[in-house]
Amino acid sequence: MSLTESELLTLRDAPEGDLLRVALPLLRGRVGLVSSFGAESAVLLAFAADIDPDLPVLFLETRKHFPETLAYRDRLVAHLGLRDVRNITPDDRELQARDPQGQLWAFDTDACCALRKVEPLERVTPDFDAWITGRKRSQALTRQGMRAVEAQPDGRVKLNPLAGWTPREIDAEMTRRDLPRHPLTTAGFLSIGCAPCTRPVGAGEDARAGRWAGQEKTECGIHQPA
Ligand code: SF4
Repeated sequence: MSLTESELLTLRDAPEGDLLRVALPLLRGRVGLVSSFGAESAVLLAFAADIDPDLPVLFLETRKHFPETLAYRDRLVAHLGLRDVRNITPDDRELQARDPQGQLWAFDTDACCALRKVEPLERVTPDFDAWITGRKRSQALTRQGMRAVEAQPDGRVKLNPLAGWTPREIDAEMTRRDLPRHPLTTAGFLSIGCAPCTRPVGAGEDARAGRWAGQEKTECGIHQPA
């Protein structure tokens, strides 16, 4: 499945600030939002809930998350009134065959992300023509060239409505809306993924420096660098 030229043009013509308002009615039933329920996820989820609380929200439940993230997911979903949050889990047989001890992350993070994130998301990809993500250019050097509307080689589209937002703007919007905050942010976690692969960041580091720290890896495979 893919978008028509006309749909793609409509999305590309939309100002970044209006992208969600244009995309959600245009692609209703064909678009999903992928959320990590991390430190900056609440703003995008709040915008989406304002427009369509029935929008499918996909959470990659890798079974390696911090318990705080799972509790935060449940709290935020209730707070925003989101009605279609789907936990996308790895296949049990594949887990047993390829990571029986749950330690694959320790020696092959790419293989672990493939098993716990990329392949589970691929299983549900046929249900959607477009994905909404919360990625921002300000998050890392590898994201500085990212566009708000990214056509994919398979004809699908990734939409990044917050591409131009800065951490300060996100923080201000969270305060303005009185949104719940991820409990680990107060401990210096500015970008929060799976527990074994996330550490707090220090002063002067970019927000994603705590993800797969010490490795070349910067993305899990579902969002390749722009
Ligand atoms: S982020 Fe780490 S624990 Fe999570 S799927 Fe990737 S390698 Fe595995």
